[in-house]
Amino acid sequence: MGSLLRRKPSRQERSTLKVGIPRFLNVWGTHRFWVGFFRALGVGKVIFSSETSEEQYRTYGSKRITMDSCFPVKALAGHIGELLEKDINILFVPKIYSLPSFLSGHVMDALSCTRVPMSVENIRAGFTREGDEFSLRGIRFVSPFVPFAERDVLPKYLYDELVKAIPDLKLEEVKRAVEEGFKELEGFDRAMREKSMEIIRWCAINNKPSVLILARPYHLDSGIGHDIDQEIQACSYPVLWYNYLPLDEELLDWLFGDDVRQGIIKSYFDISDVWTSSYSSNTNEIIWASKFASRLPWITAVIRLSSYECGMDQPTFTPVQRIVESTGTLFFKFGELDETKPAGSIKIRVETIDYYVKRYSQEIIKRKLSLLKKPPPKLTERPIA
Ligand code: SF4
Repeated sequence: MGSLLRRKPSRQERSTLKVGIPRFLNVWGTHRFWVGFFRALGVGKVIFSSETSEEQYRTYGSKRITMDSCFPVKALAGHIGELLEKDINILFVPKIYSLPSFLSGHVMDALSCTRVPMSVENIRAGFTREGDEFSLRGIRFVSPFVPFAERDVLPKYLYDELVKAIPDLKLEEVKRAVEEGFKELEGFDRAMREKSMEIIRWCAINNKPSVLILARPYHLDSGIGHDIDQEIQACSYPVLWYNYLPLDEELLDWLFGDDVRQGIIKSYFDISDVWTSSYSSNTNEIIWASKFASRLPWITAVIRLSSYECGMDQPTFTPVQRIVESTGTLFFKFGELDETKPAGSIKIRVETIDYYVKRYSQEIIKRKLSLLKKPPPKLTERPIA
């Protein structure tokens, strides 16, 4: 397979290339971009590693860790190790420096946690210290710098690294592929937000509570977030994720419009009233979602997930809890998640959450409704059968 890469593949040969991508950190939340991007480049197949699991980590990763870190970073070793066992030509591990965010333009920046791009070289070192495990298998390791928030320079960064593995690649086609990637990602994002809007409408019409998960995108990975959202859903509460809340104009005007008109915030997406150091994309979205949750009557409880040794989440714990609880919304935290799933303690805590949500939701909905004007009809009117 190494010879295929050395021979400057033609367009047709490119369709035989298989690209492996670890399903780690901010690949969660941007994976649809990569699917659209590589499809547009004419690459044959994109293979993602499986979700994180203790077994994956122990089998492929734990002996290759070269530094101590939060578990979502260490888990990358398991994903890379798993992909090395697969039939791939290119191992594509993006160093995601910044992210596409709906808050861009309303905040200072949309950066990833610094550990996200740095994790790649740290973990890679564990696969090269006793011989280069990538070249031994004829796999090209490609790891471009990815500034998602700077759309104009993104193609060049991707091109500069990818051309080493795909020699007939042209910058112009990378530019087009980047646009395709964004189209794919934005379509997925829109569909997820519409789904959340449907859930909220259902709650409003039926006077039912929902629960919001505040986390990082990779807590959607069952090995990182330990399926706590599913445990909650099994108690019969619809679950919303902070990163896919609806951005419907009427809804946002209902929740934030008065603050905008009174000059407290500049737009529905302004978080400067509660968070001034708005450089981190995931953190900004967590803060914005906590404001959203504190206002929306049918979110009666918020569950915060955070990984053990996450330095980024620490300073936000108190502000987020204060924002959520400012309207009497229930707040719970699972604060030290790591590779082992503490099934027993999760079960006990979910039972406690279930008790409080059942006991207090109607009271919370009523109180939060009284703080707002009449809800927009699109939320509360039943669709005509
Ligand atoms: S945000 Fe926290 S969990 Fe995520 S990479 Fe950074 S330190 Fe690790």
